[in-house]
Amino acid sequence: MTIKIDSLLQCLTFVAKKMHIPHSETQLVSGLPLVDGRLTPELFVRAASRINLTAKIERRNVDSLPNAVLPAILMLEDNHCIVILKKHSQNNHIEYFDPLDCQTKTMSAQRLDALSIHMVVLIKSDQTYDDRALETQKLAQKHWFWSTIQHSWRIYRDVILASLLINIFALANPLFVMNVYDRVVPNSAIETLWVLAIGIIIVYLFDYLLKTLRVYFIELASKKSDILLSSTIYERVLGTRYDKYPASVGAFAGQLRDFESIRNFITSSSLVTFVDLPFAVLFLIIIGYIGGAIVWVPVIIIPLILLFAYIVQRRLNEAVTHMYTAASQKNATMIEALSSLSALKVLNAQGRALKSLEKAVGQLALWGLKSRMLSNAATTFAGFMLQMSSVLVVIVGVYLIALGELTMGGLIACVLLTARALQPFSQVAGLLVQFKQSAISLESLTEIVQQEQERPNNKHFISRKSIKGDIAFKDVDFTYPGDDHPTLKGISFTVKQGEKVALVGRIGSGKSTIHNLISGLYTPKAGAILIDGVDAKQLDPVQLRDNIGYAQQDGALFYGSIQENIAYRDTFVDDEEILRVCDIAGVSEFTNTHPHGLSRMVAERGINLSGGQRQSVIVARSLVNSPSILLLDEPSSAMDNASESRLLSHLSSEIKDRTVVLVTHKTSLLAMVDRIIVLDQGGVVADGPKASVLDALKKGQIRVG
Ligand code: ATP
Ligand code: MG
Repeated sequence: MTIKIDSLLQCLTFVAKKMHIPHSETQLVSGLPLVDGRLTPELFVRAASRINLTAKIERRNVDSLPNAVLPAILMLEDNHCIVILKKHSQNNHIEYFDPLDCQTKTMSAQRLDALSIHMVVLIKSDQTYDDRALETQKLAQKHWFWSTIQHSWRIYRDVILASLLINIFALANPLFVMNVYDRVVPNSAIETLWVLAIGIIIVYLFDYLLKTLRVYFIELASKKSDILLSSTIYERVLGTRYDKYPASVGAFAGQLRDFESIRNFITSSSLVTFVDLPFAVLFLIIIGYIGGAIVWVPVIIIPLILLFAYIVQRRLNEAVTHMYTAASQKNATMIEALSSLSALKVLNAQGRALKSLEKAVGQLALWGLKSRMLSNAATTFAGFMLQMSSVLVVIVGVYLIALGELTMGGLIACVLLTARALQPFSQVAGLLVQFKQSAISLESLTEIVQQEQERPNNKHFISRKSIKGDIAFKDVDFTYPGDDHPTLKGISFTVKQGEKVALVGRIGSGKSTIHNLISGLYTPKAGAILIDGVDAKQLDPVQLRDNIGYAQQDGALFYGSIQENIAYRDTFVDDEEILRVCDIAGVSEFTNTHPHGLSRMVAERGINLSGGQRQSVIVARSLVNSPSILLLDEPSSAMDNASESRLLSHLSSEIKDRTVVLVTHKTSLLAMVDRIIVLDQGGVVADGPKASVLDALKKGQIRVG
């Protein structure tokens, strides 16, 4: 096997060790989208954050690194990197760690200068508190969404600065027109006109530039947040405990997709509208300064617009919530129908699926109409108020002109300024639906993101790279989530390392459930499962599963070649190993005769393979790298007798010193095991050597059913 070391990972573990931070390689990289099985500098930052280290990638000179910021990782050519530990100024030497030979060495500064350094990764330990302190100080975890947005605070600060200037520039036009009416026109002061015109043209040019920049800034911030948020969401979703997933894939996928509505909201022009709102005060002050009492018109109209929007918002909330639920229902129905199309057709049940889909779509349309009507009502009312305000300003203005308190130009300026002051308020009303939708999406996404994780960062698992294969169930009770009927009741048994045991029993007696518990997909409600004498809850589930080959009863295949499917667990597995497991599981039987062999493409869920072929691939996949525990759930249920006996004879040498828990309804497969455990209705009714249990079953001494 070719050894490919991930030098970034080696450097990270070295630094963690140096800082006395408990960690395991699995903890650092499991679930990350590794590139060629290695960390990239960006992934390094994510891996480091799992053990509360902040890593920062910088392009800077090594000379500019003081000892205080060390250790730092230098990225060299060919994915190689080293950790700089200390710079000795007396002899101009540098102490460093080289992951290639795991040694700490020194080199001269000149030699270091000669190396081409692509980037430097600086590492800092975050302030961490233990649970007691967290409890008392209520230093809850940072909010996943807002803390990510905070990363872009500098960009948002620039947006606000740009908005400030844009709003100040907006004063230019009314003031220009006012001066033209009051000073230029009465005196025919053409020179003044040109000076003012040039001034305002320059202002408008800046305004144009700033508006373009502002949009660019917002897009920039949203791109940054988008990438960070998407990876946070999906990392958390995939890391969620298996028993915490919602039952409906469609509804769940819909919820995840709603992230787009939040993103659109924070990136769209709506954000600009909100930023513009407070500047209304500036316009009001100027209106008051120029037009005196005229300012009362917008001062009264703004609360009226807001009041109307508030009243509408309350009814809108209900409509949008219904819309959201209907959309979930539609998604759930649609995905369920699409993923079982053939069954639908065989049962002639398309009509039934269509009916529930149409019902959901109907609801969606109904509530969509309601919410649009309501938001339109708010927008139209705001538009009406805008028109009213200009009429009122003119009326009040004419009285003021008659009293000699206002000039003609002043009146026109006030009309323009009032329109500008009210404009963002009229848009806010229209944004209410978007706002509410984003709020609901954010809430449901927060729930998803905060779902209990399988491997929480602050949990220290017992690190066991290799597991011997002792399994013990001690009084295990288990109920599936959402079910009120216990599936397993008081199950106790021990399987020693290397022992081969069969679980038999009627359908639904809990055999597959026992497999699911051993592989850590679920945890028992009461009692304990010990693996190598340690409670499975304390073991890292990723490390545990690394040591388990589990051929599930209804295991899934993925889009890709047969070879890729077999090597799904470990992309670096070599071809010899793949050929070996293919021979054992009988995959070679059908790949050898196919023109594409192991490169034959498997469609999603493996639907272009026959049931028996699918099963062979699933069994082959579980045998890769010879894990010490083998869980085979009906490995031959879809096979013909010849294939089954070939599998049996091949497996017998493969499983020699490994723990095997076989589930089967077939007596022929029992040749593989020495011991049988009989399950019935979630309890063990017999457990003993194969011959005696079979004998007792035959004589009817074991009551089943
Ligand atoms: P078979 O021989 O048919 O494969 P089994 O012994 O493997 O049966 P299990 O799959 O362990 O049976 O199921 C045991 C019980 O748990 C059944 O009554 C089943 O209805 C229930 N069950 C199985 N999976 C789930 C699940 N995901 N959610 C809720 N209940 C489940
Ligand atoms: Mg089963």
